[in-house]
Amino acid sequence: MSKVTLAVSPEIRVGGSVFTSEDLIAIAKIAGDDAKIELTTFQQLVVEVNVEEAEDAKQQLLKQGLCVYETGSVVKNLSVCNLCKGAEIEGLNAARNVNKAIVGLSTPFGMRVGYSGCPNACGEPLLKDIGIVKRKESFDIYIGGTPKTLKAGTGNLLMQQVSEKELPEFVKKLITLYQQHGLKKEKFNEFISRYGMESIKKELITSKDSVG
Ligand code: SF4
Repeated sequence: MSKVTLAVSPEIRVGGSVFTSEDLIAIAKIAGDDAKIELTTFQQLVVEVNVEEAEDAKQQLLKQGLCVYETGSVVKNLSVCNLCKGAEIEGLNAARNVNKAIVGLSTPFGMRVGYSGCPNACGEPLLKDIGIVKRKESFDIYIGGTPKTLKAGTGNLLMQQVSEKELPEFVKKLITLYQQHGLKKEKFNEFISRYGMESIKKELITSKDSVG
């Protein structure tokens, strides 16, 4: 029987990526006795289900309050810190709005976006393709973080003081650039090297001005 995979995460909330016992029971129910459930580095559990049962399984998980995402070459769910200082100070709504605007977008290579509620940068946003760090009332954006290979390294600062209103469109515009100009299977950091940080910045400044 053909299988498909569903990427399952808890809703973005204060406290970080926390599953309840009811969440895990719901996941176990749809996965069945011979389940293969992978814990990824994307704050996801990837569950394999039969193709015929996939839609029903998805609906059951959504009913439980879980989020179900695409797998493969797409923007993964936003990887968030624990938002330990509370929803308002750390920008819970901002994080949710960014996730809503970008998650599942198809990209040349799978893409990770990280969000931290303060400059302590827990959750390692500087190791993500795009890292968002809240600083008081605005956000700094880093790009090109690379956690793997011997070329691993932190991202570079692309833009400072992006407002909460601008943030979802700003990040989406960055991903659109990659969608439009990235080569097949080209990783985001490779795209940055080829396309050029300054060219990206120029395109984004125009977008930032038009959104603001
Ligand atoms: S980045 Fe800041 S808000 Fe987020 S968990 Fe760390 S200390 Fe808390």
